[in-house]
Amino acid sequence: MRLILLGPPGSGKGTQAQRLVQQYGIVQLSTGDMLRAAVAAQTPIGLKAKDIMAAGGLVPDEVVIGIIRDRIEQPDAANGFILDGFPRTVPQAEALNELLKNEQMNLDAVIELKVNEGVLLERVERRAAETRARGEAVRPDDTPEVLTKRLASYRDQTEPLIHYYSDHRMLATVDGMMPIEQVTEEIGRILQAVGKGSGSRAAKKAGAAKRSAKSAGRAPAKAAKKTAKKAPKAAASAKKTGKAAKKGAKAVKATKKAAKAAPKKSAKAAAKAAKGTRKTSAKAAKKRAKG
Ligand code: AMP
Repeated sequence: MRLILLGPPGSGKGTQAQRLVQQYGIVQLSTGDMLRAAVAAQTPIGLKAKDIMAAGGLVPDEVVIGIIRDRIEQPDAANGFILDGFPRTVPQAEALNELLKNEQMNLDAVIELKVNEGVLLERVERRAAETRARGEAVRPDDTPEVLTKRLASYRDQTEPLIHYYSDHRMLATVDGMMPIEQVTEEIGRILQAVGKGSGSRAAKKAGAAKRSAKSAGRAPAKAAKKTAKKAPKAAASAKKTGKAAKKGAKAVKATKKAAKAAPKKSAKAAAKAAKGTRKTSAKAAKKRAKG
């Protein structure tokens, strides 16, 4: 599974990425963490990035693209990854497309965590206080002043990615103001709908089918279609277990739809499957589309 978590600072990308790492056994690729490590180690990249980061700006595209290129090629990223904090600009997104194409990898979903700006400030202040209480050093960019700049960077340079991935029918939006657990569940539903859920039988079969199709040299979409034929069975058993299962059945349905469509369209199906449980984000998406 390959997934992008998109959202402003403090929207919970890191928290959710860590939970996904536990659930799916894939790696979290956080350009922020990598850059902070480079700053601490005083590498040439770190020296270049230090002041930009402290001021709340964005490190040049070619620097972060280079970091991600090297990281994606590492063996531990072969099973899949969660991109947290990358891409942050349209050129980065385009470079990522190119990178994935060269590596013959697909992107399964782009999930936007939507959170009000007022809440972000509170969250970042809380994060700084908790870090201080643990006796650890607070990030120099976790101050209200720098956060304001980081939010401006997000609005100007990263928000266009929401339209970019929405145009590419890859975007699913989650209300990031819900409790952490609920956000994780919602992400799980989206992943299930694109055939990547951790628990669903259909998803497991889709994974196995995709793997065997790959080794047999068949197109993954074909394999997914084959799996989707068996989805109703999974849906029927899911129905038995009440409300939560109903959602599962919905997701299986969406998996079937997604599998029928071209791989690119699977995220659209994901967005559809999650629609019923995130009216707020659907409204926001409409607004964005209008504007
Ligand atoms: P984060 O931990 O994701 O909030 O990132 C911390 C800082 O690292 C950001 O404010 C940027 O200065 C820099 N950074 C992280 N990822 C990127 C990226 N993809 N492009 C440019 N700058 C980045």
